[in-house]
Amino acid sequence: MTGKLVIGNWKMNGRLAANLALIDALRADAAVQAAQVAVAPPFAYLGQAAALLAGSNIALAAQDVSAFDKDGAYTGEVSAAMLADVGCRYVLIGHSERRQYFAEDHALLARKLQAAVAAGLIPVYCVGETLAEREADAYKAVIAEQLAVLGALAGRDYVVAYEPVWAIGTGKVASVEQIDDVHQYIRATLLQCHGASDSIRVLYGGSVKADNADAIFSLQSVGGALVGGASLDVESFGRICQAAKKTV
Ligand code: PEP
Repeated sequence: MTGKLVIGNWKMNGRLAANLALIDALRADAAVQAAQVAVAPPFAYLGQAAALLAGSNIALAAQDVSAFDKDGAYTGEVSAAMLADVGCRYVLIGHSERRQYFAEDHALLARKLQAAVAAGLIPVYCVGETLAEREADAYKAVIAEQLAVLGALAGRDYVVAYEPVWAIGTGKVASVEQIDDVHQYIRATLLQCHGASDSIRVLYGGSVKADNADAIFSLQSVGGALVGGASLDVESFGRICQAAKKTV
């Protein structure tokens, strides 16, 4: 793992004109160009984004993928092969919003992970506890259970994103001590089940902004950031990329 990776998760935001303006501005931003960066637009705009990103250093990511790995009668689904076909390098899997609003369980997520790696995509597998789980001091057990799904991916290329649910879109950021504690725990757990954790990047996500990025990236256990809200604002995202680049 070298350098910090910054992935912008646009969630269900964007329109053709707004995406064009945002990607043009990202391409023109020297800090974004110098960092390791990806953006994750909604499915509908992946083709547009792929065309606009051509020739840049900004990679394309999808926000989700179907668990079905063969083409067929799965109305509304988008397969990993399709994502690879339109130029995606990464795919988010298990984001807490998918777990919460779409009842995605571990069995489904295991299938999505398999489908993604089989198509040559790099899954960005999201884990994290709710506020109640943190307050009950159950967060490590919850995260261990979520990580167990990665068991079948030993030796494959993937990224983990630690995103405490209570810090996503709330403006509440985990402290650097809390982040380091969980990142060390994730590394140790992956080492135990896969035998190697150094090569696996662990991103932090949860209200990462321009003014807290330096402190978060100063942690060696942090391999980058998954950024939601701030990824829609060129100036904020550019400053987060700058902070990522500084710590390399
Ligand atoms: C996310 O969507 O993964 C996220 C971390 O969102 P935000 O940065 O807005 O908290």
